[in-house]
Amino acid sequence: MRNELNLIANRQFDLLVIGGGITGAGVAHDAASRGLKVALVEKKDFASGTSGISSKLVHGGLRYLEHGQIGLVYESLQERGRLLRNAPHLVKPLPFLLPVYADSRVPAWKWRAGLKLYDVLAGFANIAPSKTIAPLELRKQNLPWAKFPPLCLQYFDAQMDDSRLCIEVIEAASQSEAAVANHLEVTALDLFPGRLSRIQMRDCLTGEQLECESKVVLNATGPWSDQVRKLAGETGPDLVKPTKGVHIIMSDVGLNAAMLLLHPKDGRVFFIIPWLNRTLVGTTDTEWDGQLGKVSATAEDINYLVEGFSHFLKPAVKPEVIQSFAGLRPLFNAEASPSSRSREFKLHLGPSGMFSAVGGKYTTYRAMAEDITNALCKKLGNHNRCTTMNALLPGGFAIKRKGFEANGTKELGWRYGLNTIDAMHLLNRYGKRAGLVAQYCLENKMLAERIDPQLPDLMCEFAFHRDFEMARLPDDFLYQRTRLGYLLDDQALEKVRTRVAPFCNNYH
Ligand SMILES: Cc1cc2nc3c(=O)[nH]c(=O)nc-3n(C[C@H](O)[C@H](O)[C@H](O)COP(=O)(O)OP(=O)(O)OC[C@H]3O[C@@H](n4cnc5c(N)ncnc54)[C@H](O)[C@@H]3O)c2cc1C
Repeated sequence: MRNELNLIANRQFDLLVIGGGITGAGVAHDAASRGLKVALVEKKDFASGTSGISSKLVHGGLRYLEHGQIGLVYESLQERGRLLRNAPHLVKPLPFLLPVYADSRVPAWKWRAGLKLYDVLAGFANIAPSKTIAPLELRKQNLPWAKFPPLCLQYFDAQMDDSRLCIEVIEAASQSEAAVANHLEVTALDLFPGRLSRIQMRDCLTGEQLECESKVVLNATGPWSDQVRKLAGETGPDLVKPTKGVHIIMSDVGLNAAMLLLHPKDGRVFFIIPWLNRTLVGTTDTEWDGQLGKVSATAEDINYLVEGFSHFLKPAVKPEVIQSFAGLRPLFNAEASPSSRSREFKLHLGPSGMFSAVGGKYTTYRAMAEDITNALCKKLGNHNRCTTMNALLPGGFAIKRKGFEANGTKELGWRYGLNTIDAMHLLNRYGKRAGLVAQYCLENKMLAERIDPQLPDLMCEFAFHRDFEMARLPDDFLYQRTRLGYLLDDQALEKVRTRVAPFCNNYH
């Protein structure tokens, strides 16, 4: 995909999608593959909002069963199955341990019943049945428990690379002829229901003003939804009441499974998750009524997560907190407490004629996009059916993982001279597009080098991100395309910034 502003400026579209998070990406992909003329514009980088700072879980959400949201859990588990098939390089099965202590807020029988229901709701999409782990087997895993649990259950969910998944969905939209642009902000909307609406935009990197027209406009700006509604002249109560979620990234503590735990302070569910040679701990869930662009992790948030971690795990070497990140859940406005507020979504048709998609979970983005696109197609008189249910994403592969990896490592080795570890890294991140990334190593040997000695990321990836994925600013490369910004401490990150700089300058 290329940032072709001339494909957007002064053009007419059936559908303009505002927001390049997973909601906008999913709708742009679905609508473009049904033959609509679509544009998607994002004011910063794709997935730089909520869609890049999630817990990275493609999950049914065991805890939603507690709130009786069985329909949401069922749909999420079915979508989990589809994502594992359609994006096997970006969404992978992940085992979860669930230790149960005598003083747990939720008793063992309730967890067992919940997990059985979870298995049943997953049906044929189940990864593996839940089970109790025998104490001997658990001891063999050598986990750094602070207190060895008297009972430990195991179940499966999946882990994703959230920002890369969002970017691949936008790539899929682009391959279906959608015009897509990042760093392009919608600044004014003149909406005329039933006729062409006029949309004004600003290129945030050059300051240039652009305009286009569209029959239908979808506001998919997550936490920013009410700001964009105001641009369209809509008033009345806010549709979104965001809650803040914080994660911390700690050094690797050698987990081979994630853990679902209840925080000792308030009994809330939180996770400790192995992630890219590090340990991810999160999340908090607190009300937020501050400025949208100013959300950050406070010392209190970080202490809460460290306290939760230390209550359950005590590694021989105390892990350091490397980074933290915070984001806002774009939940629709309701009176419930943050953790029990619904994760379902609503499509709102405002008095201006603009549609706003609010709420939802990352896991169910495709199903949500299908429902939204059905409504938009009805409005536009398009009768084509959704095709995304079984559509592989651009890097997706239909053969078994083992065979794909064996063939892929061989091919990347003899064609581009990559060793098995580097080849596996590219296959795991780019799937069947790994060759497009590796080809840069033939041009220049330096591009086969690691970006940072601690992590498997390769210099050739920066060239690919620049040429194929519209990365323009250093943060686009370091936070959304790779995850180096989250994984390295400040000193190592400074060095990496000097390595990425030439790729930003060379942008064409
Ligand atoms: C801490 C946390 C953890 C989570 N964990 C999970 C999880 O593990 N699994 C799961 O399924 N879900 C999870 N979620 C929920 C999920 O991440 C969100 O539901 C989803 O990412 C929302 O995507 P979105 O596209 O609606 O919003 P966003 O990703 O925020 O996208 C909106 C975009 O609109 C852009 N925008 C705003 N204004 C304009 C404008 N004027 N012009 C152009 N663009 C504009 C923004 O820059 C932004 O990129 C989590 C959420 C949080 C906060």
